[in-house]
Amino acid sequence: PDIMSEQLRQTTCPYCGVGCGVDISCNASKRAVTLDTVKGTPEHPANFGRLCVKGTNLLETNGLNGRLLHPTMAGKSVDWDTATDVIADKIASTIAQYGADAVAFYVSGQLLTEDYYIANKLMKGYIGSANIDTNSRLCMSSAVAAYKRAFGEDVVPCDYADLESTDLLVITGSNTAWAHPVLFQRIQRAKLKNPHMKVVVIDPRKTETCTIADLHLAIKPGSDVALFNGLLRFANKQERIDKASVGRFADGLDEALESASASTLSEVAKICDVDASSVKTFYEIFCEATRAITFYSMGVNQSSAGVDKAQAIINCHLATDLIAKEGCGPFSITGQPNAMGGREVGGLANMLAAHMDLENLEHINAVKTYWNAPVMPKGQGLKAVDLFNAIERGEVKFVWIMGTNPVVSMPNRGQVERALSKCDMVVVSDIVESNDTLKYAHIALPATGWSEKDGTVTNSERRISRQRGILPPPGCAKHDWQIMCDVAAKMGFAEAFNFTHPSQIFCEYAGLTGYQNNGQRQLDLSPLQNITQAQYDAMSPLQWPFTTSDELQGMQGLNSKRPFADKQFSTPNGKAKLIPVVFKAPQQQTSKLFPFVVNSGRARDQWHTMTRTGKAAKLLAHTSNASVHVSPHDAKTLGARNKDYVALHSAACVDAPVIYPVKIDEDMRKGEVFIPIHWSAQYGSHCKLGSLYASAVDPISGQPELKHAAVAIEPV
Ligand code: SF4
Repeated sequence: PDIMSEQLRQTTCPYCGVGCGVDISCNASKRAVTLDTVKGTPEHPANFGRLCVKGTNLLETNGLNGRLLHPTMAGKSVDWDTATDVIADKIASTIAQYGADAVAFYVSGQLLTEDYYIANKLMKGYIGSANIDTNSRLCMSSAVAAYKRAFGEDVVPCDYADLESTDLLVITGSNTAWAHPVLFQRIQRAKLKNPHMKVVVIDPRKTETCTIADLHLAIKPGSDVALFNGLLRFANKQERIDKASVGRFADGLDEALESASASTLSEVAKICDVDASSVKTFYEIFCEATRAITFYSMGVNQSSAGVDKAQAIINCHLATDLIAKEGCGPFSITGQPNAMGGREVGGLANMLAAHMDLENLEHINAVKTYWNAPVMPKGQGLKAVDLFNAIERGEVKFVWIMGTNPVVSMPNRGQVERALSKCDMVVVSDIVESNDTLKYAHIALPATGWSEKDGTVTNSERRISRQRGILPPPGCAKHDWQIMCDVAAKMGFAEAFNFTHPSQIFCEYAGLTGYQNNGQRQLDLSPLQNITQAQYDAMSPLQWPFTTSDELQGMQGLNSKRPFADKQFSTPNGKAKLIPVVFKAPQQQTSKLFPFVVNSGRARDQWHTMTRTGKAAKLLAHTSNASVHVSPHDAKTLGARNKDYVALHSAACVDAPVIYPVKIDEDMRKGEVFIPIHWSAQYGSHCKLGSLYASAVDPISGQPELKHAAVAIEPV
């Protein structure tokens, strides 16, 4: 098909990290373009034509009602020139008075890679601070840190196709059936085709994902490190580990085994609160498998021990040599549509760009030279929780929030609100005219959204796909990269931000990935640095890393290859690393005062804070309101029936409880409750889930513990 014709446009679904291709049929008259139907792209390797209910209803979530259409200052419409003048002046005066680190950007996995690249270039190379963090900090920063520690580079070493050729799929901390439905369907089909394939689900809740489980381990929340350390110890006892062979491609095996030595079956059963025979069954299945994938998501990452959890998983795969080959590996699946594009361009406060490091002087100099940057950061910037703390302390005076709603999504909501209300200037770029964060904006800027934006996203298997602009920007809306380039120009950096099309940004970024790389990093898109706008417009999905043939012409001649297939990793000595880890309990522990654990996650048909999916009646039909899921035993103890309202408070919000109706749920463990993440105060002043979570973070990744808070529950 002609994917760029007026009748058919191929783009990518924005509602999760699977990154499904979608075909939009359009109707272009002289007066307007309309989007008529949506179908899965048959040839897109992420979905081969399939879509979940969110993708199928994409067009219903895409209307103009509630859109922010003009820049506003203090609630009044202003023109772009006025708004960008004020922003550029405020950034410059803040730097002059307080230094570059008094300026911060807080961006989003909703941004396209080109937007992310410009935000990072502006902040790190021209403002001179690394204070640019993103809501991806709440999503996958623990997975990133663990991959980097183990492989020397943030590389997900598995593909979706591996799910079809594995013998064993361990799904941990992920309700894949609801959060990544098209992948779940792929797993279901693979299991039907291969009756020998086993699925083990590790999750405190019995979720829809358990319908395909041969074994479900309902472990105590936060006990994953003990479970996987136990697996490492068991594998060693069973002589499943070939130490000599592992030593050829990885260091640290003995130290990791030592750290796991206390994780006996009985100890693991005690810490995880599951029976020892089920744990042993899991371990035996893993040790018998010739191919195994451990598939993990927020239940692993959103933890004060998130990096160690991911590391414990990676240790098991390295030790048993179930890695870097077909059907094998530790597979982190990310929530957001641009699952990886942001981190590829350095979209976290502790990363530089193109998988280079802020601690490495050679890397800093390479990026500085490539950007012709006047100034570079002196070290890492502030990670999300630290950033909002610094705003509250008055150390950060200017923050620009793009495409995200931190008042709802961050932990310790009251603290985030206090910080924003104290900040000298809060700028928010968004597509909606109101949400919980926009209330604190001094300046609101109308950005473009899905179907209007043009650029690339990278999904959870490192596949770069195009999101295509089909509709014109509504009202005065502009693309995020354009808005930032306008501000940069007004700060005196017009030459470095003289982009007129996202293809130019992509080419510059592709060039940076190869600059002084010398084959040291898997991420090298430099063969694409000279593609034309027409080639960019017509770009088919492309998975890195790739080899190039001699006949390379634009996109032709690129062949993707398996990362680390030669067992050469991106570390100085080429070897991967096992890292010793020990179990640490979540930071908020239950007590007499706070006897319940609250966990949170997605509802099946909603996305993030519902600013788009909340518009579609069909998507609200599955779950129409937020509720607190309580086990029948606990409901009885509380004297609560279905739909009775209860108040929850934790040590983080003693005087400001949050209130939800009860949903009695047989799939909950006793003493644990679950609340879906999507509903915010916009949907009822009581819906302030984030208030329950303290600002506990993983000490390495800075990822907040959003799956575990100790709470009291009382009837109201
Ligand atoms: Fe969109 Fe994810 Fe559903 Fe695919 S699985 S259609 S990317 S929400």
